[in-house]
Amino acid sequence: MSYDYDLFVIGAGSGGVRAARRAAMTGAKVAIAEEYRVGGTCVIRGCVPKKFMVYASEYAEMFKHAEGYGWSADNPTFDFRKFMDNMHSEVDRLSGIYLRNLNNSGVDVFEERAEFVDAHSIRLIGSDKIVSAEKFLVATGGTPWQPEDLPGVEHTITSNEVFHLKELPKQMVIAGGGYIAVEFAGVFAGLGVDTCLVYRGETVLNGFDWDVRTHVHEGLKQKGVRVITQSVFTSIDKDEESGRLTVHLDQGDGIDCDVVMMAVGRRPATAGLGLEQVGVDVKSNGAIVVDETSRTSVDNIWAVGDVTDRMNLTPVAIREGQSFSDSLFGDGADPFEYDNVPTAVFSQPPVGTVGMSEEEARHKFGKVDIYKTSFKTMKAALSGDESRVLMKLVVRQSDDVVVGCHIVGPDSPEIIQAVGIAVKMGATKAQFDNTCALHPSTAEELVTMREKFVPPELS
Ligand code: NDP
Repeated sequence: MSYDYDLFVIGAGSGGVRAARRAAMTGAKVAIAEEYRVGGTCVIRGCVPKKFMVYASEYAEMFKHAEGYGWSADNPTFDFRKFMDNMHSEVDRLSGIYLRNLNNSGVDVFEERAEFVDAHSIRLIGSDKIVSAEKFLVATGGTPWQPEDLPGVEHTITSNEVFHLKELPKQMVIAGGGYIAVEFAGVFAGLGVDTCLVYRGETVLNGFDWDVRTHVHEGLKQKGVRVITQSVFTSIDKDEESGRLTVHLDQGDGIDCDVVMMAVGRRPATAGLGLEQVGVDVKSNGAIVVDETSRTSVDNIWAVGDVTDRMNLTPVAIREGQSFSDSLFGDGADPFEYDNVPTAVFSQPPVGTVGMSEEEARHKFGKVDIYKTSFKTMKAALSGDESRVLMKLVVRQSDDVVVGCHIVGPDSPEIIQAVGIAVKMGATKAQFDNTCALHPSTAEELVTMREKFVPPELS
């Protein structure tokens, strides 16, 4: 049987692009289809533009803090339009690089939607062409989820539209308490928007270490975000004349604002791909079921990235895509290991974390030692910054191995990338202690914590 392609990839985001290029570089005949823009969520409407927004929002405080160092920055102003234009130019540039890299690797790029016809062919929706391939990789990512039964949900935006706001709102309400809600609450508060976060739980960042959660939760309030907990939206009204919105909650008064953003989770983007008809198993949330080699229930179809809802992070999708191509087209590859993946939340201050939370480690190993400290940075001595840094090590008592490291504070994502190497290698607390401090730095606290934390009730 001969096919048009050895490999056809659906979705040109982080995972799909990496897989397509790696396979093409081995001499395989590869094509990729993308219905929106090459680069996917991370480059087009996720990590990259989000981080630019975080950078933009940090300046307001920097101008203030600079005064303690003798600088005067009277009445600095912010041009939202100019910033957004610059940000989109950079996103366009990066998307262009992704496209060029695909072309240079010899991958055929179809900038249109693809849907399965059968296990060996897809229909390209724009050109209405049928293309066949021996192997398929589904890397369609995820999309923001919104509760369809929420009255007035059509007046809200998600993390897709937030990058296309025409002007900076005066007042904004954000629903959710996960990565996206927390990150954007910090962004808009930093940009001077009167920001309110409504979370159904008690403390944001469910699933993270408890100390991280409480630190970030307090940090939000310190930065001026109004945080309403244990509350959910019941409806959103729009005043057609003024365009203003009113968010109604299950308790308390309504909140008037200009923009409402739903950040209540994402779902795998599998709707309408024709997966059922070719026999690919999906979970109730739409996630494609895969084995440890990313193979689906159909022999010649694989899936990587957020569409599989394993660990929804860009670098993980890239590694899954690479592992897929190297094992099927290259010299072979070990499946990606999901333990000790460092991650960051670009809250303000940001979170950097790797390994297990204290709660997870206690549950898994029983006895753990905790080392933690909270302090103001050296820079804050003159800048007047009131926020504190949190550093925490979770150590397995049986063998002294550091099984988790959690930092909330400036540069913590940068620090945690390096600490991640040590944690991944299984470094012990004694080895952390043997490492000489770098002075003066924030990170030196990681190698100078000697006192085990004793909970107040035991001391
Ligand atoms: P998350 O899963 O992180 O958070 C969803 C939030 O919405 C939770 O607080 C959840 O509450 C709440 N929620 C869920 N359903 C409802 C509901 N029906 N009503 C009210 N609240 C609800 O999703 P995000 O959208 O923030 O992010 C999606 C994923 O994208 C992340 O998990 C992460 O993997 C990835 N991401 C990574 C980033 C990074 O690496 N920096 C940045 C952004 C996204 P509860 O806590 O009670 O479940």
